[in-house]
Amino acid sequence: MTTNTKQHRLRARVLTLLLLGSTWMVAAASAEEIAIYAGKLFDSERGELLPNRTVHIVDGRIESVQAGFAKRDRERLVDLRDYTVLPGLMDMHTHLVYEFGPRAYMETFTWNPADYTLRGVDAARRTLEAGFTTVRDLGDKDNVTVSLRNAINAGTITGPRIFTAGKSIATTGGHADPTNGHRMTLMGSPGPAEGVVNGADSAREAVRQRYKDGADLIKITATGGVLSVAKSGQNPQFMSDELESIVKTAKDYGFTVAVHAHGKEGMERAIRAGVDSIEHGTYMDAETMDLMRRHDTWYVPTILAGEWVTEKAAVEGFFPEVVRSKASTIGPLIRDTFSEAYKRGVKIAFGTDSGVSPHGDNGREFALMVGAGMPPADAIRSATWNAAQLLDMEDELGSISPGRHADIIAVKGNPLEDITELQRVQFVMKGGEVFKPVQTRQ
Ligand SMILES: [Zn+2]
Repeated sequence: MTTNTKQHRLRARVLTLLLLGSTWMVAAASAEEIAIYAGKLFDSERGELLPNRTVHIVDGRIESVQAGFAKRDRERLVDLRDYTVLPGLMDMHTHLVYEFGPRAYMETFTWNPADYTLRGVDAARRTLEAGFTTVRDLGDKDNVTVSLRNAINAGTITGPRIFTAGKSIATTGGHADPTNGHRMTLMGSPGPAEGVVNGADSAREAVRQRYKDGADLIKITATGGVLSVAKSGQNPQFMSDELESIVKTAKDYGFTVAVHAHGKEGMERAIRAGVDSIEHGTYMDAETMDLMRRHDTWYVPTILAGEWVTEKAAVEGFFPEVVRSKASTIGPLIRDTFSEAYKRGVKIAFGTDSGVSPHGDNGREFALMVGAGMPPADAIRSATWNAAQLLDMEDELGSISPGRHADIIAVKGNPLEDITELQRVQFVMKGGEVFKPVQTRQ
């Protein structure tokens, strides 16, 4: 765990004590104890299914896991003997305030922050109900996901644990420049506060602004992208000095750096600068993959986004023409890149880019990963154990073992035999609280 995360948590705890002192005392006085009977339990560290386990939960954390079914008197029973129980799923690439459609490019002119907030609230609930108990949000608007995260943590609305980058950082005209494609009088000249930088100094300023905004990590767009109104989907858009400045500043604040990248050159500059994850990674080749292995860089493939934009590129008028040509070519390449990267031993963490495709469909990524050659157990590990490592939270999240948050889901069948079971999550618990109960037989 990073010092920064620890400080955040300590601060949150002190605030809770100050604001809700009396409520906290009541909660502490009556520790809630739950026993889950698991017909099968997925061990995300080893990637195997264990039969007949009891998971003991105290105050939202896993206390112990034992063989057989053995409820204690004071425990409330959750009977999942007919189910496969897994750690809550973790999606390392979402955009909760976006949901793409033909009218998406107009929203920037017609939507208020409240509109984005309300969409985010709905997306957060759908994501959690789909079994995703943790997400990274890699680019929002008006810092909506910072407030969303805080409201979810406070328990006022329903959603996954959110680790947010706030607004993505781009260079002028780059993939996440919010005024791309606008007419001249509307373009203005957005700067570090809006996530647009040029040069090492303004890159540093943008990272510090994210700290001030309350973000948890940094996201940059190191190359062109598919959905921006710009010609190239793969040109490098950051210089090495800018990348180094971002990584160095981010480290001071305990931030990891996630990098949107399609083109090889921009991607390799970012890897050399020491970033933590490459998102999409479409045009990486064997050389890039070896570079990632040497630098211990994570790959978050987002195959679903590639498939989705290619499917929609066939629909007349769905995308502006400049976007459509990129969508029809880049999309299908991600699957092959993923397949090669897996074979070559690149570390892979699960991510969908949901917000491109609809929120709540995140589980479709598993079948695409398996279809591209990854064994089901590894695909599930990428969304649990690996994702927790990418977040530097493996002591807290990503496995059903003592000390971790009780983020637990269940599916009906055996996901190692039919990976699409993860598109039909039947039970969702987060922090010991049930958000989606199993349908009881009458
Ligand atoms: Zn994205």
